[in-house]
Amino acid sequence: MSSFQPPDVLLLGPGPSPVSSRVLDAIARPTIGHLDPRFIGMMEELKELLRYAFQTRNALTVPISAPGSAGMEAAFVNLIEPGDKVVVCQNGVFGARMRENVVRIGATPIMVSDPFGKPIDLEKAEAALKANPGVKALAFVHAETSTGVESDAAVLCALAREHGALSIVDAVTSLGGIPLLADEWGADAIYSGSQKCLSAPPGLSPVTFSERAVEALKSRRTPVQSWFLDLSLIMGYWQGGGARAYHHTAPINMLYGLHEALLILREEGLDAAFARHRHNHLRLRKGLDAMGLELLVAEESRLPQLNAVVVPEGVSEMEVRKRLLDEFSIEIGAGLGELAGKIWRIGLMGAGSNERSVDRVLEALAVCTGRKAA
Ligand code: PLP
Repeated sequence: MSSFQPPDVLLLGPGPSPVSSRVLDAIARPTIGHLDPRFIGMMEELKELLRYAFQTRNALTVPISAPGSAGMEAAFVNLIEPGDKVVVCQNGVFGARMRENVVRIGATPIMVSDPFGKPIDLEKAEAALKANPGVKALAFVHAETSTGVESDAAVLCALAREHGALSIVDAVTSLGGIPLLADEWGADAIYSGSQKCLSAPPGLSPVTFSERAVEALKSRRTPVQSWFLDLSLIMGYWQGGGARAYHHTAPINMLYGLHEALLILREEGLDAAFARHRHNHLRLRKGLDAMGLELLVAEESRLPQLNAVVVPEGVSEMEVRKRLLDEFSIEIGAGLGELAGKIWRIGLMGAGSNERSVDRVLEALAVCTGRKAA
């Protein structure tokens, strides 16, 4: 055996997205102690950078030391207790995971289901809140990575507030790619992932909790069932002012990487990053149109960072993906759940959202599907 040498692959799937050499260099810097005052200074900056990305002043804004699924679990286990009712909107694979979290807590999910490829139906969500007074939370996925659909997070958060419920927002694929206005929307718990539009490696889950969510956490009837994800303990570790209490050993170098990725985002500016994602999505769409390839999602709810392309009749979904990887060193994603075999998922996320990537994948797709590029 010898050291692992990964191949050079252009990551244009549903995540992870390409990681810039600036972020990789940051991760390769010397490991220092996680209670070293210099490291603690970096943690303080990291919280501020995350507040910028989430567009919030929430004090409780930290990266959880585990991937997006742990952010999801943290939101549910901290805010939901056995016996609570939760409206869970499902229009793809990740809404089903939210349901699973609710069930495992011993709470009752009230499902609002929409077809894969469509946004959450706002009227159905409102009807579920009206029909179930006392619901503890409304949970939904802002950017459904399994289908490439954006749902109206502003309206869903407002509906939750109107009905006295907390909002739990999955922003794993939206953070840094499309507008996410935590404070303006009054969102209560948002979780994301490091490996999508932030373009850091996977393994960290930025989360932000509103004051209302922190109050709900403080007034729980029962202890949080997960010790590791109990935010009252995690807060003790991440709080400033020299009172930091050991909770777990932070993934030190990964946090250097997230810090660098967020610096890059701040240097570019959120609006410029959103415009870039949109520009490259439109370039991709134009090229797909020219080849006669269709997108699954209607124009008004398409995510620029995740493009679900319908596999045409007579073309093998798997064969094309395999050739893209083997012959062109480009990774794209397959469909999940009921869309398996029916779509390809082309991610243009973070550092992967640029004209060169779009042109490379279009050229390669033309060869692999036997179609003419524009
Ligand atoms: N939620 C959504 C919308 C996702 O796309 C993903 C991952 O792709 C997750 C949750 C889970 O994140 P992770 O794979 O980092 O655990």
